[in-house]
Amino acid sequence: MYKTILVPVDLAEEGFCDEVVRHALEVLAPKGKLILLTVVAGYQMPLVGSYFPPGTFDKAIKEVHQQLKAFVEQKLPIDPEDCTLEVKEGKPADLILSEAKRLKADLIVMASHKRSRLERSVLGSVATKVVGRSTTPVLVIK
Ligand code: ADP
Repeated sequence: MYKTILVPVDLAEEGFCDEVVRHALEVLAPKGKLILLTVVAGYQMPLVGSYFPPGTFDKAIKEVHQQLKAFVEQKLPIDPEDCTLEVKEGKPADLILSEAKRLKADLIVMASHKRSRLERSVLGSVATKVVGRSTTPVLVIK
C-alpha cells in the first residue's frame, strides 16, 4: 500500500483516466493521500500580455480546476474533498516529475497513452518521459 499517490490526469482522455484512478485507489493505504494533477500546457493558455486583461491566466487555471472537480464528482467513487486537486501550467512531464518530488509521492499512477488503449509498442510521449526520468516508482496502466 502507498501513502501518497500522484495521478496525472489529462481531462482530454475521457473514459480511460477514471479507470487509472481506480487502480490507484486499489493500492492507496487507508487514510492515504490521493493527488490528481492536470497540467495545462503553456501553449493552450491565452497569451499573458497586453491583449488580455490581467487575471485571464488565473481564470483559465480555475476553469480547468472546476473541470477536474466535475470529473471526480461524476466519474469517481470518491468525494472531491477526499483528494487533492492540482492544476498547474507548464510542461506536463516536467511538472509531473517535480510535483511528485515536492509532494513526496511514493507512487505515480498513469496511463500508457492518452487517446486510446489500442495496442501500441511504445508508451505515449509524456509517459515515456516520466517513466524514463522518475525516481519515484511509476505504475503504468494499459
Ligand atoms: P499520448 O502520447 O498517447 O498522447 P501521453 O504520454 O501524453 O500519451 O499520456 C499518457 C499519460 O500521461 C496520461 O494518461 C496522463 O496520466 C499523463 N498526461 C499526459 N498529458 C498530461 C497533462 N497535460 N496533465 C496531466 N497528465 C498528463
